[in-house]
Formats: sequence, C-alpha cells, structure tokens
Amino acid sequence: MISFSTQDINILIVDDMADNLKVLANTLSAQGYQVRCAKNGSTALRGASAILPDLILLDIKMPDLDGYEVCQRLKANILTCNIPVIFLSALDDVLDKVRAFEVGGVDFISKPIQVKEVLVRVKNQIALQLAHAKISQLNQELEIRVQQRTIELKTVNQSLLREINERQRIQQKLVYDSLHDGLTGLGNRSLLMERVEWTIKHAQRHPDYMYALLFIDLDRFKVINDSLGHSTGDRLLIAVANSLQKCLRENDLVARLGGDEFVILLDGISSIEDATMIGDRIQGKLRSPFELKGQNIFTSASIGIVFGSPDYTNAAELLRDADIAMYRAKAKGKSRYEIFDMAMYQETLKLLELENHLRQAVKRNEFVLHYQPIISLNHSKLVGFEALIRWQHPTKGSIPPVEFIPLAEDTGLILEIGEWLLKEACQQLKQWQQKFAQIPQVASLKMNVNIASQQLQQPEFIQKLDRILQETGLNGNCLRLEITESVLIDPEGCIQNTLKQIRERNIKLSIDDFGTGYSSLSYLRRFPIDNLKIDRSFIEQMNYDLENLEIVRVIITLAKTLGMDAISEGVETPQQLQQLKALGCEFGQGFLFSKPLPSIGVESMLAHYPKSFNENYPNFN
Ligand code: C2E
Ligand code: MG
Ligand code: MG
Repeated sequence: MISFSTQDINILIVDDMADNLKVLANTLSAQGYQVRCAKNGSTALRGASAILPDLILLDIKMPDLDGYEVCQRLKANILTCNIPVIFLSALDDVLDKVRAFEVGGVDFISKPIQVKEVLVRVKNQIALQLAHAKISQLNQELEIRVQQRTIELKTVNQSLLREINERQRIQQKLVYDSLHDGLTGLGNRSLLMERVEWTIKHAQRHPDYMYALLFIDLDRFKVINDSLGHSTGDRLLIAVANSLQKCLRENDLVARLGGDEFVILLDGISSIEDATMIGDRIQGKLRSPFELKGQNIFTSASIGIVFGSPDYTNAAELLRDADIAMYRAKAKGKSRYEIFDMAMYQETLKLLELENHLRQAVKRNEFVLHYQPIISLNHSKLVGFEALIRWQHPTKGSIPPVEFIPLAEDTGLILEIGEWLLKEACQQLKQWQQKFAQIPQVASLKMNVNIASQQLQQPEFIQKLDRILQETGLNGNCLRLEITESVLIDPEGCIQNTLKQIRERNIKLSIDDFGTGYSSLSYLRRFPIDNLKIDRSFIEQMNYDLENLEIVRVIITLAKTLGMDAISEGVETPQQLQQLKALGCEFGQGFLFSKPLPSIGVESMLAHYPKSFNENYPNFN
C-alpha cells in the first residue's frame, strides 16, 4: 500500500443532505484530509474546476443534477476528467451500481454510511490514485530516459557509421595501394598478374581470343638516374608512364614492375600487327625528348613481345617470355622490339645453365689467366702484359671471356672472380720478377688487369687491393688497372675518391675500349687517368675508313694534350702498326705481336728476352 500524508489530500464531498455532509466531512477531517463540501451538482462542478480535488464523494440522488450527470460532466472536462469519483447512495440496486461505473465512478459506498468503510475506501482510492500518479510519473521519466537513450544511440550510431565509412575508405585505399605503383599511379605487378591470369583463363574458354604482353625496359636509365639524380629519374619515369598510357586503348593495362620496367597487357587484339604497331608507336613516342625542369632528356626503350597461346597456363610464364624477348632486344642493340620465340627460350635456358656452371667454376677454380704483351711502339720493346681471363670448362673446353664476363657481372659473381684474378695476376708478375731477376727489363714490366665497375664500387675495394699487394709483395707501380668509361659517370663522387686512393699507391689507371662509351672531356680531366686504350674497332677499320683514322688521331692527340699515353688495342697488321707509329701512338697490343699467352708461353718469351727476342717476335720492330 502506498503511504501518504492526509493533509495533502483534498476531498470534495457532494451531497444534498446536510447531515450526510457533516458526518462525512467530520470523519474525513478528523483523519487530517482537507475537505470541501458541495450541496448540489452545479456547485460541485464549479468547485471541482476551481480547485481540483484529489477525490470526490458524490451522492447519486440530488435535486438539480443527479450524481450520474455530475460525474459525466466531470469526465467530459479535460481538467476534471481524472478526478476519481466515489458514488454515495442509499440505493442498493445492482443496475445503479453498474451505471455508476459506466459514467466513470471508481467505487461505490452504500448508505447508511459506515465510517470505517468510507475511510478504507477513501484511503484505497487515494492510494490507487497516488499509485496511478506514480506510475504515470515513472512512465514519463522512462519516456524521457528512452528518448535520451535514443538520442545517445543515434549519436553513437552516427559516429559508428562515420567510422565504418572511414574504415571502408581506408580499406579501399589499401586495396588500391596494394595494386598500384606509388610513383606513377600505374598498376603494379600484383594487378598485372591478376589481369593476366584472368586473360589466360578467358582465352582458354574462347580459343579465338588473342592477347599479347609487352615488356618494356628503358635503355640507359641507370646512366640518367646516376648522372642527373634520382628525382629527375623519377620525373622521367612518370613522364614515360604518361606517354605509354597515351599509346594504348582503354581496356589495355599498363603496369610498372619496378625500376624502369613497364609491362603492357594488350587484351583482345585482332592480329599480331596490333601488338607490333603499339611497339612501334611506343618507340616513336619515346624518341622525342622529354622536357624535365627545362632540360631535354632523351631515352629509348627495348621491348619484348609475347603473344598469348594455349600453352600458357599462368601469368609468370608469359612475363618470363616477354622478359626474355626484351633482353634479346637489348642484346640486338636496344631501342627496338623483339618477338618471343622458342629458340630464345632455349638460349635462356642455356644461359641459366651457364650461370650454374659459372657458380661452380668459382668454387672449383676453373679459371686461368692468359697474358697479352703490350709493346712500346717507338722503342720496339715489351712494356707489360694485359691479364685476360679464360675459363677451362671441364666438358666445354676453353670459354672466352665475352661469353661469361657479362653474365658474371649480371650475377655479381664478378666480385669473387675479379678478386681472384687480381691476386693471380699480381702473384704471376711477382714470380716472373723473381724468376727473371737477371733480366733488368723485367723489373719494369707492368701488369694490366681489367676491373669491372662493380668491383670499384665496393667500399672495401682499396682494402682488398692493399691486402693483395701485401700478400703478393708486388710493388703498386707495376700494376695498371683497366676501367671502362662508364665507371667515370659518378655523381656521388665515390669512384673519384677510390681512383684517387689507387693513384696514391702509384698504381696506374687505363680507360679500356676508349671511344665506345660516354666519357666526356670533363670526366677525363677530373679523374687521375694515365692512359687511354683505343678500342679495337677503330684500329680495325683505320686503314679503310678515313673517319676511323681521324678518331684514332683525335684520341691520340687528346691523350697527349691531357698528359696521358695512348695504347692501341687489336693491332693485327703491319700497316696498322705503321699508321699508329706515324700518328704518334706510344703503345700497342695485338695479334701482330702476340696472342694472349698462357703463363708458360710468357716464360719462354721472357727466357729469350732481350737476346734473340726480336728473332722470335720480329713484329715487335
Ligand atoms: P679487353 O679488355 O678490351 O681485352 C682485349 C681483348 O682483345 C681480349 O679479348 C684480347 O684477346 C683481344 N685481342 C687482343 N689483340 C687482338 C687482336 O689483334 N685481334 C683481335 N681480334 N682481338 C684481340 P678477350 O681475352 O677475349 O677478352 C675480351 C674482353 O673480356 C676484354 O676486353 C675484357 O673486357 C673482358 N675481360 C677479359 N679478361 C677479363 C678480366 O680478367 N676481367 C674482366 N673484368 N674482364 C675481362
Ligand atoms: Mg682490357
Ligand atoms: Mg679493350
């Protein structure tokens, strides 16, 4: 039961009988209720509207308006409709009671009134009323809380939605990034492989479907990158990417594999010419220079083309064959395209086999050095040797360096091989110096050793050189290192420093195959070079071709002007010798004097030296 304080309860008693009013008013007042009385219906209605009672005790039978009517009017008024009405009546008729409830009464007290009953019913009714009020208050509070929670939930929902959207955006970006190249925005290897796999499957279901893969590699990109800096290199790659896109149809895909390698997937072509035409178009586009930061940069590309065929079951095979064809294009002089065929594949397999053998050769020590004499043309005397490597393959016999040195450079094996041969050559000269100590000229002979650019780029190269000189006991001034022109392109200045340290050890430096590379006068002046070896190709043509003769003349003059010596390579005929002497070339080397000789051959030559040397080697004169 809800407890309450009776003073707060306002009860209106309506009865036309003054006695009844009095008894009820007294009884209820005695309990502490605030009591008002009305003698008829109209007064009751006015009183109820003026000050809302908490409960009305309403007599049914009254002269003007009866209780039912009063109750109905109370219920019809929005102000008073909720006031509980307990009917009072002497009538004990069931029908009246029903009516009393029908018009909105909540309880019924029969007359004559039992005080206790009245109090209990009033109390119950008030308690009920209060309970109602409490429930509706609780309901309201609940409603407010529900509304607040709904607003909170809405806010949380909105922020969740924002978070989900953001996550979706990040996820989409991650997916995009994982399939695209950060620098150029082109597709990357993953996207390409996915698309190629799809194309292969599509072609398996549609036998007439034709497609091709173009593997594009920029020529000399490394030189551009190294000489003009990486940011220019990057800009060039972006410009090339844009150009490539312009050469394609909308459904073709161009991807960057990394570095200066791009791949194009031509989907749904109608003939082989469609692919070669694009190859031509790309060559044409790249031929015009790219203007980057006000500088005109020239580039070109080697392209390998492979056509889809039912033999291909995965993307890696196609990419491999396009790559093989691209290498072929490079080997055939760059700036061109080549179409893949099976013969290329066989050759690549052979090359792979060679690479395996080369790795074993290093371990099994299958290399030997041959030594080609270098001659002073003016004094007709031997001044030194060039050490030239030979590979004694257990089954294939002697393999010339042109067949394995490029491979050794590509695979990095040149570092190990180069170190071995540098030591071997130094040791050999030292041995000859000791063995032929009685011949004074032998002490001044020099040993030329070819050094690959990768060797020079090793930070520990000087340390290795020092160790070799120390272990072999050879004086540095007996050694001459042959380097290629490309080594001199050295924007970071590391090579310049290495070359300076080489010179500090009295070791001489030669530029090998001079005239075939990219050296400029400024490079030559900047580096401590002692002599230039004129490439064999110029000497070969010298007697037939005026232009080559002029080139040889210019190189000799250039060498002299810069305080260097010139050494002619590949002197084969007496005419060439005469011509070179006439041009003032100091040194020469070639089959005219001697082929590269094995160690034992050099020893028998030195044994005749200088006595009877000229009889054995008449061309030295
Ligand atoms: P290179 O350093 O320019 O060596 C000269 C090449 O010309 C040698 O070929 C030599 O045998 C050849 N040659 C000399 N005189 C004549 C001639 O009168 N006529 C003709 N037709 N050829 C002549 P080889 O030994 O086959 O070496 C080829 C290239 O391989 C070398 O060119 C050099 O670049 C590289 N190479 C050889 N040995 C080594 C080495 O020990 N280390 C490195 N890094 N490269 C080497
Ligand atoms: Mg050489
Ligand atoms: Mg050479």
